Amino acid sequence: MSNIMEAKVLSVHHWTDKLFSFTTTRDPSFRYQSGQFAMIGLMVDGKPLMRAYSMVSPHYEEFLEFLSIKVQEGPLTSRLQHIQVGDTILVGRKASGTLLTQNLLPGRRLYLMGTGTGLAPFMSIVQDPEVYEQYEKIILVHGCREVKELAYQQRIGVELPANEFFGDVVTDKLVYYPTVTREDFRNQGRITDLIRSNELFERLHLPPLNMEEDRVMLCGSPAMLKETQGLLEERGLTEGNMSRPGHYVIERAFVEK
Ligand SMILES: Cc1cc2nc3c(=O)[nH]c(=O)nc-3n(C[C@H](O)[C@H](O)[C@H](O)COP(=O)(O)OP(=O)(O)OC[C@H]3O[C@@H](n4cnc5c(N)ncnc54)[C@H](O)[C@@H]3O)c2cc1C
Repeated sequence: MSNIMEAKVLSVHHWTDKLFSFTTTRDPSFRYQSGQFAMIGLMVDGKPLMRAYSMVSPHYEEFLEFLSIKVQEGPLTSRLQHIQVGDTILVGRKASGTLLTQNLLPGRRLYLMGTGTGLAPFMSIVQDPEVYEQYEKIILVHGCREVKELAYQQRIGVELPANEFFGDVVTDKLVYYPTVTREDFRNQGRITDLIRSNELFERLHLPPLNMEEDRVMLCGSPAMLKETQGLLEERGLTEGNMSRPGHYVIERAFVEK
């Protein structure tokens, strides 16, 4: 059995000139946990060109969904951004990643903090009813430069609370805090500054971030992760992984080349 499967593109949505999302068919044998990533790609010159992508779709969904950057000179995304309904993409069979609640110690609140396409794994998590059973509140913080980059606002703010199966629990537990750095908006500022100043917690009427009650998942640029990790460690939170759960876990949204 090949370690790469084929999937057909079902829909494509362009959010901005640098950001798009798409759905594909899902091979029934492909299993993953909400929050994980897989390798996806295209055949280029007769060879698979693959990159890591977080699944936006939760583990139970019949289709796959991805949120993608468009890097104009990028080997994959210079091509992937042109996919159309009916095209074939490649999906690696193996899913992996650390953004799993099993890597966290039990806690009251789960913070999901992502920048840019770092939202992708958290979309999967906030669409997974099993995660809500483990926390009193799930706080999704998405940071971008501009308002138009805040993908999935409608799904998070309107469609999920109206979900016929678990809309009630979403309404009760999910707190959405989109924030931008380069435009006027109801919430402004970098995630790191919002933590440092406690503005995030004050605005949400929640206690300041603390290791006793709060658990955190981070997904962003290498620089965002480094700075945010420093703030968490200053507050006594320790990193969790597959072998030892902790107070927070991280995943890179991309690697600088
Ligand atoms: C664990 C993991 C999960 C990832 N999940 C996603 C995802 O869900 N969606 C997604 O779009 N990308 C994701 N990436 C990045 C992805 O693997 C590719 O880097 C991206 O698709 C660009 O591919 P490329 O071949 O066009 O350019 P590359 O040669 O891979 O990248 C070129 C440069 O573009 C910049 N870049 C790459 N990806 C991003 C990004 N997402 N946001 C901002 N700048 C970027 C970096 O500076 C990089 O050096 C993930 C990476 C990792 C390690």
